[in-house]
Amino acid sequence: MQLADRVEKVPPYLFVEISRKIAAKKAQGIKVISFGIGDPDLATPSSVIDELRNTSLDTPNHRYPETDGLPEFRQAVADWYKKRFKVTLHPDNEILPLIGAKEGIGHASLCFINPGDIALVPDPGYPVYSVGTWFAGGECHWMNLKESEDWLPNLSDIPSNVAKKAKVMWLNYPNNPTGAIVTKEYFKEVIDFAKSYDIAVMHDACYTEVAYDNYKPISFLEVEGAKDVGLEFHSLSKSYNMTGWRIGMAAGNQEMIDALMVIKSNLDSGIPNAVQYMGIEALKATDKEIEARNQIYQSRRDRVVSTLNDIGLKAKAPLASLYVWVKVPGGYSSAEFAELLLEERNVVVTAGNGYGPSGEGYIRLSLTISEEDLEEGIDRLKGWKIPKK
Ligand SMILES: *Cc1c(COP(=O)(O)O)cnc(C)c1O
Repeated sequence: MQLADRVEKVPPYLFVEISRKIAAKKAQGIKVISFGIGDPDLATPSSVIDELRNTSLDTPNHRYPETDGLPEFRQAVADWYKKRFKVTLHPDNEILPLIGAKEGIGHASLCFINPGDIALVPDPGYPVYSVGTWFAGGECHWMNLKESEDWLPNLSDIPSNVAKKAKVMWLNYPNNPTGAIVTKEYFKEVIDFAKSYDIAVMHDACYTEVAYDNYKPISFLEVEGAKDVGLEFHSLSKSYNMTGWRIGMAAGNQEMIDALMVIKSNLDSGIPNAVQYMGIEALKATDKEIEARNQIYQSRRDRVVSTLNDIGLKAKAPLASLYVWVKVPGGYSSAEFAELLLEERNVVVTAGNGYGPSGEGYIRLSLTISEEDLEEGIDRLKGWKIPKK
């Protein structure tokens, strides 16, 4: 058997080494506390589960769904965009339901990238932007994110010969893994840049509903001209604790939505109807409900940040996302420090370089951990004298 390069050459799973060490600890009977994975521990709202219970009994919902989803779900997405961002979208040609944002992000590269084409990809970043590019035969030009530039790509660092060849730019705010946020002014610059080089902008907006301290994240589509150049990806996973149900959406430029529909209608058959009815119900959540959920994460964020500062790290509280992103002490690499935490405190964090070389020197702690484990993790960190390297 000869496997294709795209299978053979995909970078190894980020967490192989650390997973091996966790397994070794478990074999010794040691419980490890993990701040590693970004998957909400909280339950899907019960009204959303009720919707699944009811609609799963209807025989028409047992059949193939349409790739472009239920008109009622697309309408619910349009209503949500209107209410949440004051953005008007046509439910029939500016919105496409997805089997989770990851699916749409992965497939979007097939819409824009021919073999040898360039995608502008943030480093550090969610791995699907680069892997999707490679699967389509393209190459990544890394946009290095820096703390000194608030983790926003510096557009003037992109050489003009690269920009001229680039087909697509990936962005993600609120950001995973850095927790950074974005402004309308920055998006305006991106739109001007995209227009001058004829580049499609793909904005991953998975975390717009996970925010703290009264901060309200913005949508790319709020900015004038955005619909001319790009798409925005959303997910109900982080917004409504629905990672297990697999539902999200793409919204924006009509031609790009059509192109994604061409790819998807040939590869998948859409989201189960009952799950789309769950999505319609989820999108009705009130500000108060979202705020109550965010209070839980905010309290976790504050406890994690203050503990990290107590042990001598310089952690800042993010205004959005599910992650605390913090510099490791001098002399350590990300991986060395993550290993040390596991060795000495039986606590798992993610090494920042797993999200790209510019993540070197940082670790990520996820707030999607049960209260009990969070408290146990904090106890384990408290009083730790970090060995000098
Ligand atoms: C979790 C996550 C996704 C995946 O969302 P799904 O809808 O569950 O597929 C996409 N982008 C980022 C940045 C994420 O952190």
